[in-house]
Amino acid sequence: MRPYTIKYPYERIRNLLSENYKYDPKAGIAYPGYKGRHVLYLNKCTGCSLCDLTCQNIAEAITMVYAYDISLQIDEKNYDAALKGEQKIAELINEIIKGLQDVTSIFRIKRSVSHPMGIFYPEINRYVNEDGTILIRLNKEPLWENRSDLLSLKYLSSSFKRLSSIGWKVIKTIDKSPDMEGYSISNDTYSIKLIIEKRDFKLEQNKKSYFPQVDYGRCVFCGFCVDACPFLALEMSQDIELSSISRQGLVYNPIALSAKGLSTPPPSTNPIDAIYGWLKNKI
Ligand code: SF4
Ligand code: SF4
Repeated sequence: MRPYTIKYPYERIRNLLSENYKYDPKAGIAYPGYKGRHVLYLNKCTGCSLCDLTCQNIAEAITMVYAYDISLQIDEKNYDAALKGEQKIAELINEIIKGLQDVTSIFRIKRSVSHPMGIFYPEINRYVNEDGTILIRLNKEPLWENRSDLLSLKYLSSSFKRLSSIGWKVIKTIDKSPDMEGYSISNDTYSIKLIIEKRDFKLEQNKKSYFPQVDYGRCVFCGFCVDACPFLALEMSQDIELSSISRQGLVYNPIALSAKGLSTPPPSTNPIDAIYGWLKNKI
């Protein structure tokens, strides 16, 4: 074969097997395919954890996780005060959101590839409870963790410290880990509740909404987790470009794993190269 040069990453060699690697447990047959990034079918996964158990003897790359939401429960009077820009309440909301942004800011870097990284958008969503209290949800994308107490430790402990230093008292009131955590945050004038709750995806076959998350800093791409899944919920795709500038960027949550699309090449910065690459792909 004549040697030739390609301009990676603007051009790719098309020599990967086009099928996903999958295993049919009933037939006992593995179908050949490239063993790249996993694809998780949320509508088939039962949360049985067999993939996780299998990986424990290999690389401990899989963690089973729940999806959580973080909300502030606030009565109407305090909500109106917050809308009018009451400084103390605005300060409290800002501190909590700041804590969430500190941890998630690493996901905010724009990437040229198309895989979703579980991007976190602090966004105010308002719901009214039956008792008239107002729930302000602070996250849009779910936060994935194994236990609610780990989540509060990771995302909220720095905010709680900062709030304590400026006169707020933070007391844990609900402790039902892994399902739920509740905190009362108060000062002389205001008392507001913070609630961490599991999100229910309302999937018939997975009532706990419990899914695998893969850490590609550990995975050795052996495919044994795919072989172990009794429900054909896990496959491995041709997606091989998984590098990240942060350690956390290598951890793919269940929503990121459920994306089927492959990485797309970044656009060439040189127009002549771009036309050449386009023509080459057409031929
Ligand atoms: S492919 Fe990766 S996640 Fe699956 S069992 Fe092997 S090391 Fe674990
Ligand atoms: S991917 Fe398969 S083995 Fe893993 S939890 Fe879901 S159903 Fe079980």
